[in-house]
Amino acid sequence: MANIVILGAGYGGMATAVALERSGQPFTLINKHEYHYFTTLLHEPAGGRNTFDEYSVPLREVLRRPSSEILKATVQELRPQDSKVITNQGELPYDYLVIALGNAPEYFGIPGMQENALVLRSLDTARQLHEHIEKTFASWHEDQDDAKLRVLIGGAGLTGIELCGELAEWLPELAAQYNLPLDKIQLINLEAAPSILPMLDEGLREEAQRVLESKGVQLRTGTAIVKVNPNQVELKSGETLDAKTIVWTGGVRANPLIKEAGFEVDPKGRAKVNEFCQSVNFENVFVIGDSAWFTGEDGKPLPPTGQAAEQMGNRVAENLQAIESGLPMQPFHFNNLGTLASLGHEVGVGSVKGVRTKGVPAALMKEGSKAKYLWHLGGLRMLSQKRGQFKRKG
Ligand code: NAD
Repeated sequence: MANIVILGAGYGGMATAVALERSGQPFTLINKHEYHYFTTLLHEPAGGRNTFDEYSVPLREVLRRPSSEILKATVQELRPQDSKVITNQGELPYDYLVIALGNAPEYFGIPGMQENALVLRSLDTARQLHEHIEKTFASWHEDQDDAKLRVLIGGAGLTGIELCGELAEWLPELAAQYNLPLDKIQLINLEAAPSILPMLDEGLREEAQRVLESKGVQLRTGTAIVKVNPNQVELKSGETLDAKTIVWTGGVRANPLIKEAGFEVDPKGRAKVNEFCQSVNFENVFVIGDSAWFTGEDGKPLPPTGQAAEQMGNRVAENLQAIESGLPMQPFHFNNLGTLASLGHEVGVGSVKGVRTKGVPAALMKEGSKAKYLWHLGGLRMLSQKRGQFKRKG
């Protein structure tokens, strides 16, 4: 059987691995951690909803067959010319490679952003953000510095908006817990574009804005961040804002290893793939998820989303089995299931299969999509293990 190596245990890598395991195909999955975490939900534990361990699952609990090898290692270099990858645990040759290495923050060269802003992109950074806010708020009584109670979020895409929704509910709880002046707490979102959530229609954007403003979030659109100093952002208008918590959710690009390896890439560093999610440069390499530059049927590059990564992973697993059986590969078609954004615990906005939804039904649909995902990973066993995610805070 062919030697298949999968890089990355995000949504794309996990989908490939689960489908290959179910078909009885051995593979090696290389990942930095021994667990898979739920990237699109990181705003929830960052904002104090549930515990962090409810947002990850050990890889061995999902991939239980001995023929599914799991290697905890960090990929350091891709050498597609030699069909091998270099990791901190040594070199690995392969017959077929699936690159599912996810994304990295896009800083757009904004001076000081990388050095002075927190990000929300992994379980570790979500925990860091949570602990930073709690510690900063708790220390306000020491010097009564109001910048300690100001939280700035750069970017009003899904990540920034969902984080605002979560923090809007958690910060008042912190105020009560640490006896802080509620009127001094400020949660401000800074967005360069004229509106928040550009992927939703105008009515849903307005609804999201109404909900967040009613929870006390200040949404400042048309406001570009041009520089970040320690505990301060500079805006294009010349205004400066002091804050002890600055979070950057201004966009993502592909893992830099891809460009370094010599793949043909788009401006976001994603490797160009054909209709089979196969690299146009190396035919034994498949690239999926946020790492892939896949042009959809509308001629536009597919945006980096968890659902696209998962669907690509399933298709690539099928195509690897087709190769193994001497059958033709099948093209990938993205089935857009829609977009749902939570605006705190109880409400959300979005559209699912073309049907608009808002309020509690949107939040419930989002909960449903989590359950569906857990079911796909490990059936009832996984659902009952992670059931805490479906509890509401009392
Ligand atoms: P994004 O690129 O979607 O949004 C970033 C926002 O930051 C943009 O609105 C941009 O205008 C703004 N911005 C950029 N530079 C700025 C500056 N200098 N000052 C102020 N604002 C600036 O990024 P994201 O929200 O991290 O999302 C990345 C991808 O992940 C998207 O494709 C998204 O759909 C996906 N995602 C999906 C979910 C979900 O399905 N629930 C959740 C999170 C992310």
